[in-house]
Amino acid sequence: MTAVQVVVVDLDDTLFPERDYVRSGFAAVDEEVRRAFGVTGFGTAAWTLFEAGVRGRIFDEALGSLGLPADAATVKSLIECYRAHRPSIDLYPDVAVSIRALGGRARAAIVSDGPLAAQERKVDALGLPTWFDPILLTDRWGREYWKPHERAFREIETVTGTGGAHCAYLGDNPRKDFTAPRRLGWRTARVRRAEGEHASVAGSGGAEVECPSLADAVRWLGFEVEEVW
Ligand SMILES: [Mg+2]
Repeated sequence: MTAVQVVVVDLDDTLFPERDYVRSGFAAVDEEVRRAFGVTGFGTAAWTLFEAGVRGRIFDEALGSLGLPADAATVKSLIECYRAHRPSIDLYPDVAVSIRALGGRARAAIVSDGPLAAQERKVDALGLPTWFDPILLTDRWGREYWKPHERAFREIETVTGTGGAHCAYLGDNPRKDFTAPRRLGWRTARVRRAEGEHASVAGSGGAEVECPSLADAVRWLGFEVEEVW
């Protein structure tokens, strides 16, 4: 088997629990709503909607449930507050051992979609530049370059001077994560953590294998990862 020299990982729900970020963001917006309107309860209302499976209109509905205006300008400013907040989040416990297991044999990198301001703050909060290089946030080129676009994956090949089966991509979203790396001949693994936003999505999305953790995916690539206790 070709030795993997570059292990590229997704960010949200692969390295940290996205739902912790969501809860942290709602708490920041809760404070903003209290300051702007003198009304409490936004965070609880928004979290209840999130837990009920609502996506894409949580801010409007939470404002409405508090009797507050949900006009476009208000919603926009609160979404900006959400994306600009300093998130209170932590890496999954298997990330450090997984990256350490690569040792000097493989380089670790990130390819991540999502609004640039929000993704940059996640990268900062988690201290990711210590572990990963490069960290490619696709939104810096514009939304049309989010996965499944190939640009970030080709950029990884250029920056590292490698490609094909020397590269691997480990991600959690079967709807978009594996299309481009698979087309480029990379190794691919779906990291299906139980609490992940896309954990219930059926099918592999083209990934070669499915693993319950990042540590298991890195083991599958042939690296020896310590057990996390
Ligand atoms: Mg993800």
